[in-house]
Amino acid sequence: MQPNPRASNLAGSATLALDARAKELIRSGVDVINMACGEPDFDAPAAVQAAAVAAVGGGNVRYTPPAGRPDLRETVARHLSATRSIEVAPEEVVITHSGKHALSHAFLALLEEGDEVLMPLPAWSSYDEEIRFAGGVPLHVGPRADMGPNLEAIEQACTERTRGILLNTPCNPSGYVWHAKELRRLGDLALERDLWILSDEIYGRLVFGDAVHVSPATLSPELRARTLIVDGASKAYAMTGYRIGFLFGPAELVAVVARMQSQLSGSPNAISQEAFLAALSEEPPEVEQMVRAFDERRQVMVEGLRDMGLDTPLPRGAFYAFPSVLPYLDERGAQGFCADLLEEQALAIVPGEVFGMDDHVRLSCALSVENIRRALERLGAFLDARQQVSST
Ligand code: PLP
Repeated sequence: MQPNPRASNLAGSATLALDARAKELIRSGVDVINMACGEPDFDAPAAVQAAAVAAVGGGNVRYTPPAGRPDLRETVARHLSATRSIEVAPEEVVITHSGKHALSHAFLALLEEGDEVLMPLPAWSSYDEEIRFAGGVPLHVGPRADMGPNLEAIEQACTERTRGILLNTPCNPSGYVWHAKELRRLGDLALERDLWILSDEIYGRLVFGDAVHVSPATLSPELRARTLIVDGASKAYAMTGYRIGFLFGPAELVAVVARMQSQLSGSPNAISQEAFLAALSEEPPEVEQMVRAFDERRQVMVEGLRDMGLDTPLPRGAFYAFPSVLPYLDERGAQGFCADLLEEQALAIVPGEVFGMDDHVRLSCALSVENIRRALERLGAFLDARQQVSST
């Protein structure tokens, strides 16, 4: 049986091998600290859990319309109006099975064979595969030293075949939060070259200090008309396993995605829709507590990494740190670095190759401060040993 090449060429998750080895070590009794994870370590808010249980108990678990429950689409529209300061109609929203599902369906709906998508690096690993699977070509553009966008390079990378821009603010893995000024310049490019902007705002609620999450859709009516927003419950409400998200965009495009969904996967999970409704109707107090905890953790993390001499940009959003480990790399790159770190110090982190930046590694802050400190000790010991090896 021969799968079609587009399907068989789809790469599996790059962190899977690392994850498998970490689990093997744990099974054999090793005390592994897992900083590779991309999900909050908090429980979903109490109101969310109660709503999910009530949905099951109340028998509210039948198929819903493929685009999602009308009241949830309305609530998401109101949520977008409140958080992005734009008036949104329910027809501009489709409820999806997750943020990932919203992204892949948006690419499938938008891309023709050979269409290019500008992608500022570093970027989450799934984008490349989703774009290629939809027939598109990702155009990678490296960042500035502070992990912010190199707008000149983005402008120069644009060709006749470029159709859109993929934006992720706050960024996984760097935590960079785009400034309105940068978004305006990107928006000018989109208007000039007739490009759409697919804005992945899944970490939009998780910003720290004076950082403000800005969506390009809010900058002008012209940009709103060519922006699609992907968001969901996973990160802001610690609801990763519920698998629920949404796509906002022009009503015609949203209707296409809803039709695709009706044929390809059917209506989103009814229990999770009920739970998401509870999360969005009134923000649960746990969310702000979680944001404060991530803020404290990222400070401990960044301070610890910088104390070791690692060049670490301050993440202003999301829950990761993305230091450069260039001075410690051998010919096996960050992948070898992470494999050795797991074997020698039982610490699991993600190599930068996964995000298109070979000299970096990503550490997750989805652990207690105590465990972050233990992890930093292990990393420090690893670097000391490695430095000694490389300087002898
Ligand atoms: N976008 C980014 C940048 C992510 O990191 C993730 C999850 O890790 C997603 C989208 C998708 O989230 P979900 O499919 O859980 O909604």
